[in-house]
Amino acid sequence: ANWQNSWVIANWKMNPSTQLTVTALMTDLQQQIPTDALQRCNVVVAPSFMHLSTTQQAIQHGSCNIGLAAQNLCAQHADKGAFTGEVSGAQLKDAQVNYVLVGHSERRQYFNEDDTCLIQKIRNAFAHDLTVVFCIGETQAQYEQNQTQDVLAAQLMVVKQLAAEFANTQLGNLASRLIIAYEPVWAIGTGKIPTIQEVQNIHAFINTTLTDIDASLATTPILYGGSVKADNAAEIAQCPNVNGVLVGGASLDATSFTQIIQAFA
Ligand code: PEP
Repeated sequence: ANWQNSWVIANWKMNPSTQLTVTALMTDLQQQIPTDALQRCNVVVAPSFMHLSTTQQAIQHGSCNIGLAAQNLCAQHADKGAFTGEVSGAQLKDAQVNYVLVGHSERRQYFNEDDTCLIQKIRNAFAHDLTVVFCIGETQAQYEQNQTQDVLAAQLMVVKQLAAEFANTQLGNLASRLIIAYEPVWAIGTGKIPTIQEVQNIHAFINTTLTDIDASLATTPILYGGSVKADNAAEIAQCPNVNGVLVGGASLDATSFTQIIQAFA
C-alpha cells in the first residue's frame, strides 16, 4: 500500500549463541524468502558484532539481497583508538555493514544511553554512510498515563538537533539515511501489541513531528516494532502509514520471519 518499498528488519539481539546457528538461519532464510519479495521489501538483519562477519559471508555467497545492520556503535568521536570494548562506525563500514540500530529501549534501559550519547552515535554513523534505525517508544507507565506523544516528541528532539547539523553537511537528504522504529517498550518481547488504530495514530503523529522538524523528513520510513509475529504481520501491514517492521523474537525463526516479509512484500 506504500509508495515506497517496505522494510523488514531483524533484531537478533544477543542471539543465537553459536556461529553454526547463524549459518543455518541464514541458509534457511535464503532458501525460503521468495526473490520477488525482495523487490518490494528491503530485508535487513542485525546480528551481534561477533556474528557480523559470518552473516556477511552468508549474504555474499547467497542469492538474496539482504542488508546487514549492526546493533550498536561507539559514541566517541573516533574511527579507532583507546576505547576498549567498542566498535567504531568506520570499522562497521569496513565490515560491509550498511545500517545500525540506535536508541533501542534495551540500550536506553540497561546501558543508560541518553540523548547526548544517541546524538553522538548517530553522528558517527552518518559520518560513515551508515543508515540509522532510530528506535523510540514509551514505557508501560507512560502509556497508561497517556504520555505517549509527549515521550515520542521528546525522543525525536534528537532528530531535530541532527537535522540542524545535517543541513550544513554534504551528506544529502537526511530522510534517506534515517529510519524510525516506533517500539512501545511494553510491547517488546511481551506478546502485547497496541491496537491497529493506536499504531496508525502514533505513526501519523511521528510523521507530523518529523515533517515539522524538516519538510524533507516527510518521507522517512516509520516502522513498527514490538511482538510482531507471523500471525499479526498482515494486519500491521494494512496500516497505510506503517512502512515496515522491526522484529525481535520472531526473526530468529526462518519460517516466521519469511512469513512476515511476505506480509510486507
Ligand atoms: C525489538 O526488540 O526490537 C523487538 C521488536 O522485539 P520483539 O519482536 O521480540 O518484541
